[in-house]
Amino acid sequence: MAFKLFNTLNKTLEDFKPLKAPLVKMYCCGPTVYDLLHVGNFRGAVFYNLLRNHLEDLGYEVQFVYNFTDIDDKIIKKAKTLNTTPSEISEKYIKEFFKDFNTLKLKPHSINPKVTESLDEVIRVIQILIDNKKAYCVDGEVFFSIESFETYGKLSGRKTDELLNGVRKSVDTKKKNPLDFSLWKPAKTDEQSFDSPWGKGRPGWHIECTAMIHKHLGEQIDIHGGGLDLLFPHHENEIAQAEASCPGKQHVKYWVHNNMFTFSGSKMSKSLGNTRTMRAFLDEYPGEIFKFMVLSAHYRSEIDFSDQSIIKAMDGLSRVYSALSKASEHAHNQKIDATLTGDALKFEEYIKEKTVSVLDHYNNDLATPKVFADFFDVVRHFNSLVPNNTKLTPEKKEISCIILEFFENQSKKLSLFNEKSYREFLKSMDHLLIEKMNLKAEWIEKRINFRLEAKTNKDYSLADTIRDELTSKGLLLKDHNEGTDWEVDRAYFFNKHKS
Ligand SMILES: [Zn+2]
Repeated sequence: MAFKLFNTLNKTLEDFKPLKAPLVKMYCCGPTVYDLLHVGNFRGAVFYNLLRNHLEDLGYEVQFVYNFTDIDDKIIKKAKTLNTTPSEISEKYIKEFFKDFNTLKLKPHSINPKVTESLDEVIRVIQILIDNKKAYCVDGEVFFSIESFETYGKLSGRKTDELLNGVRKSVDTKKKNPLDFSLWKPAKTDEQSFDSPWGKGRPGWHIECTAMIHKHLGEQIDIHGGGLDLLFPHHENEIAQAEASCPGKQHVKYWVHNNMFTFSGSKMSKSLGNTRTMRAFLDEYPGEIFKFMVLSAHYRSEIDFSDQSIIKAMDGLSRVYSALSKASEHAHNQKIDATLTGDALKFEEYIKEKTVSVLDHYNNDLATPKVFADFFDVVRHFNSLVPNNTKLTPEKKEISCIILEFFENQSKKLSLFNEKSYREFLKSMDHLLIEKMNLKAEWIEKRINFRLEAKTNKDYSLADTIRDELTSKGLLLKDHNEGTDWEVDRAYFFNKHKS
């Protein structure tokens, strides 16, 4: 099955065929770096990480460029407020971006260009546009002329006459057409500016992506990605500039857009005051929870960012990690050492079929909800063959080795399920869950010690009462030679919190 990808440009699922296989040139609009980034920025980062990994798995060689917008009004404003330079602000928040990016354990991009390092190319492209009569300069400001680009609106499907109805005619008298947009803005006094043939100033936002693509990937690329919020006007304008500067060349073959987070139904944006930064989330929860939330939904669907969706992600993760933890106890870090027979042989056949099924889902526009449904089938099947607290047998060891290998292979593409200490990870989730159960670990430990004392004093009735008390609160106790461990009765918890 060929890899099919939804192309926003043609609004259809298309067979993916790069311009020059095996090379795939991919660009994704990165963030403006003036503050900690919100979870929405990282929905894109997690999704494009998967798209890139999938292409590499298919044998392509991916050049993945993800930029930083380090020239922007918001950066300049923040630098003024804090009495520092714009570059100090942007460098600080690029570092902060990578802290979150690395906590999420995503694969580094091939190149992370910045606008400040791409100004020669910005100026070169603007000059070509002026020479081609696609742009004009008025009082040090350069505008792109919408009327000069016949197919304007082809990505978003917006018509220029409809767009014109929506703008106030008197907005900017310098423009020939109210829809024309800035390629170069003249500097206001005492603000960050750069030399250009049109005087001191700085680039408009849209031109930077075109310049960085030209500089690092060339005039034509295979995939351009970004959030759906960038479709218009940003990406529409990118097409206009890029194609007007390279006549006869299609700028991007496949336009890919990921959908947004909503916050209890309302669109997330900083102005609404309901933004959550990635940092705030990662201070509270493991990155696995965020990645599970993002990847278990289809990239073209909205995701409601809520406590309920966090709990749902924890439920899914705990089902997979519990199976992996049990499997690793049975497998004992060993490999299969005999010819498979019976249930193990059947399970191996089943996993082969599921592996094909999972790949088909990825090839169908990265249908991750179906991939995850297959994962849960595998977990359920494994649990039926290797129930909890079952005796170790060679066959169960083999079945355990098979599921461990399956998830190890799958985890690479998703950058998920790769916390190698399964038990530790489950323990960290249990600590989050008891908070939601209004319990404290210290209190649980105290009750467990009290029960052990009762047992030492042969007061078995008191010991049983304490066990029942903890069980009724949704905890499971596991006695062993060195003492007693507790864990959350996760099946009970998640069942209770199902929406
Ligand atoms: Zn862009």
